Amino acid sequence: MPEKIGIIGLGLIGGSLAKAFNKAGIKVCGYDKSIDSISSAVECGIFEVLTDDMDEFLDFNPDLIYIAVPVNAGIEVLQELGHKNVRTLITDACSTKATICYEAGKLGLNFCGGHPIAGKEVSGFANSEAELLKGALHILTDGDEASVEILKKLHEKIGMKVKVMKAEYHDEIFGVVSHFPHLISFALMELILKKDKNLLEYTGGGFKDFTRIAASDPVMWSDIFTDNSEHISNVIDEYIDILNDWKQQINKKEKPVLMKKIRHVSSARQCLYEKI
Ligand code: NAD
Repeated sequence: MPEKIGIIGLGLIGGSLAKAFNKAGIKVCGYDKSIDSISSAVECGIFEVLTDDMDEFLDFNPDLIYIAVPVNAGIEVLQELGHKNVRTLITDACSTKATICYEAGKLGLNFCGGHPIAGKEVSGFANSEAELLKGALHILTDGDEASVEILKKLHEKIGMKVKVMKAEYHDEIFGVVSHFPHLISFALMELILKKDKNLLEYTGGGFKDFTRIAASDPVMWSDIFTDNSEHISNVIDEYIDILNDWKQQINKKEKPVLMKKIRHVSSARQCLYEKI
């Protein structure tokens, strides 16, 4: 079990991880390239070291390095750690896994991919909270047996449930259940803004539920969409087929067919969170 964890990226996820590890009695240090993020993190007083200098961060000798920055920045960070010949176990929180795991392998780093299935549409350390991760799923990908075991125990210690899978499979699954829902939420907001932004005045609870995640961070989401483009693109095609079928039934005024379709998805949605 790591005793000192070094977190790179002190935003929503890095901050939440730091707070949860600190609460579990593990020492934490933080590195961020943004002085604003560091200033925000200083106030909570949980970090042994907080710096924008990578050498100072590594001098803390963490026994685990946890990367919690957007996907493309994560790859740059890995390259820097590779150039510095870092041998410490490294994991990450990025929402896509195949590219980062592949890059880490190419650099010969001691790496096991990770993805906490917890989050919010707001960013930054100020919005972080230890409780964000409690009870949530944590995915581990492509690590060796020993690293997976260490990381499994660590995340269970902060109240998470761990599942292990291949990075490529992770990206296929999360392309459907996470990346695509964000895309259609962005696209719905785009549709309304394109038609007439004054229409927003008339939106109610359904619209609010559906578009909550459209308030998410542009850097993070453009990284995710471009990194997982192939899987997301396949889901877009399938969704267009489904929408076309709905369109056809609506145009034909096929009420029994529409009722059957709605009954099918509505009952699945109603018992969704009972099952989990
Ligand atoms: P965030 O914007 O809240 O924080 C990112 C932090 O990383 C910022 O403080 C930023 O200054 C820092 N940073 C960016 N580039 C850096 C670099 N090169 N070196 C050092 N620091 C750098 O983002 P977040 O929501 O915490 O997301 C972090 C990662 O976690 C992303 O990869 C995201 O895909 C993943 N993730 C996010 C959520 C979510 O709901 N927000 C959920 C699960 C996973």
